[in-house]
Amino acid sequence: MERQGNIKIASENMMPIIKKWLYSDKDIFLREIVSNASDAITKYKKLVTLGEATEDESYKIVVTTDDKAGTLTVEDNGIGMTEEEVEKYITQIAFSGAADFLEKYEKAGGEGIIGHFGLGFYSAYMVSDDIEIFTKSYREGSKGVHWQSDGNSTYTIGECDKETRGTKIVMHLAEGEKEFARESEVRKLLNKYCSFMPYEIYLDPKPEEELNKDLKEGEEPKKNTPVNTTEPLYLKQPKDCTEEEYKDFYRHTFADFNEPLFWIHLNMEYPFRLKGILYFPKVRKQVTLERGQVKLYCNQVYIADNIKEVIPEYLMLLNGVIDCPDIPLNVSRSFLQNDAEVQKIARHITKKVADKLKELYRDDKERYENCWSDIANFIKFGCVKDDRFYEQVKDIVIYKDLDGKYVPLKSMFGEEVSEEDAKNGKEPQAVYYVSDEKKQAQYIKMFKDAGLNAIVCDTYIDPHFISYIEYKNPTRVRFLRIDADIAGALKEAGEENADEAKEIQGIFEKALEGKHVKVTTERLKDADVPAVVNVSEFMRRMSEMNSFYMMGESAADVTLVVNLNSAAVQALKGAGEEAQKLSALQMYYLAMLAYKQLSPDELAEYTRNQSELIKKYLQN
Ligand code: ADP
Repeated sequence: MERQGNIKIASENMMPIIKKWLYSDKDIFLREIVSNASDAITKYKKLVTLGEATEDESYKIVVTTDDKAGTLTVEDNGIGMTEEEVEKYITQIAFSGAADFLEKYEKAGGEGIIGHFGLGFYSAYMVSDDIEIFTKSYREGSKGVHWQSDGNSTYTIGECDKETRGTKIVMHLAEGEKEFARESEVRKLLNKYCSFMPYEIYLDPKPEEELNKDLKEGEEPKKNTPVNTTEPLYLKQPKDCTEEEYKDFYRHTFADFNEPLFWIHLNMEYPFRLKGILYFPKVRKQVTLERGQVKLYCNQVYIADNIKEVIPEYLMLLNGVIDCPDIPLNVSRSFLQNDAEVQKIARHITKKVADKLKELYRDDKERYENCWSDIANFIKFGCVKDDRFYEQVKDIVIYKDLDGKYVPLKSMFGEEVSEEDAKNGKEPQAVYYVSDEKKQAQYIKMFKDAGLNAIVCDTYIDPHFISYIEYKNPTRVRFLRIDADIAGALKEAGEENADEAKEIQGIFEKALEGKHVKVTTERLKDADVPAVVNVSEFMRRMSEMNSFYMMGESAADVTLVVNLNSAAVQALKGAGEEAQKLSALQMYYLAMLAYKQLSPDELAEYTRNQSELIKKYLQN
């Protein structure tokens, strides 16, 4: 005899609201239903250990799709429910869980509850217009129970024939949701959410007879294979895992067929439980930050990727899985962000990552250097984002110099400049850097010829990183691009002849009238170079920042440093006015060409002058 009841707690208009809010990731319903099945088995196993139930054959969850009927069914051989339990747990608790959820969701300002936990059974109504439960409790003498409801306000409940212990949930899919009755679609979802669940999950298994219809003599009988791995590698003790297993797990989980560089196995029980593996991937493009994928699990159930409230942002450049049962998931994201426990967890992960990197640096410098181009972005980004991480890894940041050799950043720092000395104009140690080896080739040559060196800072993150390093070490280091202090770096000792300098400066100033350029003179070590362009580091950085973009070229503050050691420059002195002007202008353009690409106007003037010079030279 079936009887009817009213669902008291749920209000009629809750469904549409929940449907709407959860629309974007409604496929989590499958995770919720399969998790319930998994929990039911865990409960049964618990009873077995307590001696209150008998050990079973194999525990499993079977998911069946029926394209024609438009149903999706999840069946377990867990604890099952009696009629009273169905009324209490499903009708009351499950539906009140939905009400709770709604309340929390509203409190959180509708900005998303991680994993949407606590919604459970009710979430299946996001895709179903009717759900049936067939269940039989483990208790001796239990009868089968059938429950059915469209999820709005009424349900029916009564006895049914069910032979086996456990629960079967039949979801009658709503119009527009029939894709969830397709095997391929369901497989995708099971792979996403359930691939590490602790009991075997079978999707549309075939009867043994059918599988083995054409079995030949001597062949092993075929078996259905579960869609999941019940003991994912990260649950094992690190000492029991082989290198091959780590690589397999990586390939399988991230579908990346490039081998990872190395990995960190997190395994912690106290003061919180945390297990997982973080992989450092090979970086394909150096110019941008490539986002990785850190999957968060809770007791082997997938929650979401890259949850920034739990995992520091820069760690998301890595690939990994993290299983942390202690993270409170049924709360809003903003709550998580300020949760002390969650912060401890994030800090622990950060420390483990830093330890691993330091260990590699200490024990295998060569490998570390070989990996550097792949991990540099990660380390630099991590420093900029997290002071704590910077403190941990600051001694293992390295840079390539002009000879291609790696040097530790810390070795380039100078002695601290005291306040007293700073007042007298003493500046922190200058570290010269190159941002583009091709474009700055002329400067590099001059540096090398003068026996000077510089570091190569050519990644996307370097400008931010060096600013950060200066900010952290204001009295010990400043960074100057190789074209920012050419006069300072290549100046020859000794005084210059003031009159001569003034005369030459005058010639150039006259020739360059109307151009945004200052002129200075210097005795530079390289006599072959008549003049070089110098651009103030500060102004250039400013103009590189967006807010100064509008100010254009002039903001870059270009200075032409004329080399008094150059024979060409010296020759200007005796020349006629027109020859002086033409030659000075050409020396300016030569310097500009070594600094940047000329604009079309500049190039036109340069070409005109050059042919004029050639003509004059040939006519003489
Ligand atoms: P939650 O899982 O968060 O407790 P649900 O709404 O998913 O909430 O489920 C409510 C309750 O219904 C569960 O706590 C459990 O007691 C019962 N239940 C749900 N699914 C099953 C199942 N497959 N087997 C046995 N009991 C179940």
